[in-house]
Amino acid sequence: MNKKSQPLADELKPYLAPFRYDGTGEFHLKSHKTDAKGGLDKEKATRIIEANRKRLAEFQEKLYAQDRWSLLLIFQGMDAAGKDSAIKSVFEGVNPQGCEVTAFKVPSTKELDHDFLWRSMIALPERGRIGIFNRSYYEECLVVRVHSEILARQKIPQKLVTKDIWKERFEDISAVERYLSRNGTVILKFFLNVSKKEQRERFLERLEDPAKNWKFSLADIGERALWAKYQAAYQDMIHYTASRAAPWIVVPADHKWFARVVIGSTIVAALEQLDLHFPKVDKADRSEFKQVREALLAEEDGAKKKDG
Ligand code: AMP
Ligand code: MG
Repeated sequence: MNKKSQPLADELKPYLAPFRYDGTGEFHLKSHKTDAKGGLDKEKATRIIEANRKRLAEFQEKLYAQDRWSLLLIFQGMDAAGKDSAIKSVFEGVNPQGCEVTAFKVPSTKELDHDFLWRSMIALPERGRIGIFNRSYYEECLVVRVHSEILARQKIPQKLVTKDIWKERFEDISAVERYLSRNGTVILKFFLNVSKKEQRERFLERLEDPAKNWKFSLADIGERALWAKYQAAYQDMIHYTASRAAPWIVVPADHKWFARVVIGSTIVAALEQLDLHFPKVDKADRSEFKQVREALLAEEDGAKKKDG
């Protein structure tokens, strides 16, 4: 709760509800704007971003101390959608001991020797921790769907690869997310929804600014050419894998500052719902603490007397 004791979910409502899809009703990616600003300007947004950082840092301490829930945050989006910088910005000021970021790249030979969820399962957050996935198993319904040659490289027995494979992946992912949620993992999935036009601007910046050159890969242009196929894959993926246990947040990402408002607000509102608190010390421990404290105080007094 904030100063006025108004729940964060109410205060932050304009940055939550319009972007969240939990599987109820229809979903049309095309009707989600990439350049929404939620009635904010950059200055107002900055104040909300900073307030959310403080809230997040406080919740994270309790999450860690309580050691019951874990938080899994998934970030997906086209190249230059702002996944890396959003993660960097939203988590500024959060104790690094309680967070772990895993970036999922092209699978290694060892990873290809396992089922597609394996590498993500071993990276899941422990209780009390926040796990941040920069890309995730959802690539299996995105890049792998758009490029049939990648699927061919995945040593799955031939007869198991049918036209139903994407539907099956959506089902399996949803089942695993439901399972995790039933075991205390809170899951939030962010799709950074950037326009093709804004991607062009960001690619140009990466090409022109020597400090950003490294972020650009020639392969990114090839993926850009497949924009429509990716949009169709995102539409399907969000439609079939959004659930109350693991909603998708379709984040307008053309304005990085607004994306940060939506992401931070979503996370703090979800944490608020967990009713986190520091664990209480029981009566027996408390009386022992009292004795230890007195002994420690006596030690200091003794030392002072000796010195003096
Ligand atoms: P980046 O996030 O720019 O470092 O790029 C990582 C690359 O790894 C992207 O091109 C992803 O599409 C690719 N990638 C991630 N997961 C998979 C996967 N399961 N199969 C194939 N490619 C993947
Ligand atoms: Mg890249």
